Amino acid sequence: MHILICALQHVTAQQRQQHVILISLDGFRWDYLDKFQPPNLTAFAQSGASAEAMIPAFPSKTFPNHYTIATGMRPETHGLVDNSFYDPGKDRVYEISDREVVQDGTWYGGTPIWVLAEANGITSASYFFVGTEAPIQGIQPTYFYNYDGAVSNLDRIEQVFEWLKLPVDKRPRLITLYFSDMDDIGHRYGPDNEKEISQKLFELDKQLGLLFDGLGKYDLDINIILVSDHGMTNVKRENLLNLDLISEGIAGKVVNNGALAHIYLDETSQKAEVKKLLEKRANHFIVEDVADRKHYKDIDTHRDKFGDLLILPDLGYYLATSAGMVSYQKRSAMFQTDVYGEHGYSPIYKDMHGIFYAKGPRIKKGITIPPFENIHVYPLLAALLDLPLPKEVEGKPEVLSPIMIDSDGEEKY
Ligand code: AMP
Ligand code: ZN
Ligand code: ZN
Repeated sequence: MHILICALQHVTAQQRQQHVILISLDGFRWDYLDKFQPPNLTAFAQSGASAEAMIPAFPSKTFPNHYTIATGMRPETHGLVDNSFYDPGKDRVYEISDREVVQDGTWYGGTPIWVLAEANGITSASYFFVGTEAPIQGIQPTYFYNYDGAVSNLDRIEQVFEWLKLPVDKRPRLITLYFSDMDDIGHRYGPDNEKEISQKLFELDKQLGLLFDGLGKYDLDINIILVSDHGMTNVKRENLLNLDLISEGIAGKVVNNGALAHIYLDETSQKAEVKKLLEKRANHFIVEDVADRKHYKDIDTHRDKFGDLLILPDLGYYLATSAGMVSYQKRSAMFQTDVYGEHGYSPIYKDMHGIFYAKGPRIKKGITIPPFENIHVYPLLAALLDLPLPKEVEGKPEVLSPIMIDSDGEEKY
């Protein structure tokens, strides 16, 4: 009898289907947890697995990094190379505010985790995540919403509870959630404004506490993966660089993302000359030939989307057009601050690093791991859902497998 019960327990443990909730807290810098110690997130990280930091891909912007987390591929490989960029092949600019391009699947390479899930018979749901609004390989999450930042965090959380109440044949086993609060407040006041950052952080922490408590009430195996796309650094008002003056007289398209601007020349043969001209104007920025960038040498699938040249401001300096400068001045007056927060810079800067915390029945408890690149999240998500890893994925399973517990309940490492 005893043997039979043990055997049954073993089978049940193996057969319990795993659920994964991937939560992105936009702009949550690597050091906020230690610095401010919000109770629910701190308890979550301490009782699960946490990384000292998660390193974003370049550029450390929202769209390329969410999509890197979703696909396990770097921007130069998945093709969503920035928040705004020009695609010479399509002769069209991608911009996050342009709903038509955002919802057009042909901009998105790789196999996002929800596409992999659906293709393998696992239902997925999303209360926002970059890429979910477009059919990619003809597939979208079974349940999803078009992005609307005005939907309250509590409404998003409530919907997660509703999804989990669905009968098993309709219930999603992969859910994504997105909260922009820390990015919004970081941009407005800069990450060193402790009063504003901590106030927003504690508000968000309370809401996440409700989510964690609520999830605990389901008799389901739920693994929660909490990430951010990048960190944030201070930019003083006097450190804004006027891109219109910098790029004056250049024949080509200039697409600005603040921490970097892409230059797509009308005549590529003029590259060396234009680079020289820009370098003469260089004050707190450098100019890079895209063809010389270390990572991009071996690939040409999406290199053309980066342009011919990049203007890269020093950390803490930011490119703005003349019109952009006016709106920054207005923001300064409205929020009474001479400091803003920005991101997009190279991931070599610690300020650009984000977070990774995980907790659940298949995640080890009380383990801390060193900083790692965000391409490695995907193999963990795939392993938790027993999904095969597409061969183009750049993330490696061995980076996060040390935090996993095997399906038979054994610790693997
Ligand atoms: P940024 O700080 O410029 O890199 O981008 C952050 C902003 O992107 C957020 O404040 C959101 O408004 C916006 N955002 C995030 N996810 C989406 C989405 N799926 N679709 C459209 N906009 C989004
Ligand atoms: Zn972001
Ligand atoms: Zn941002």
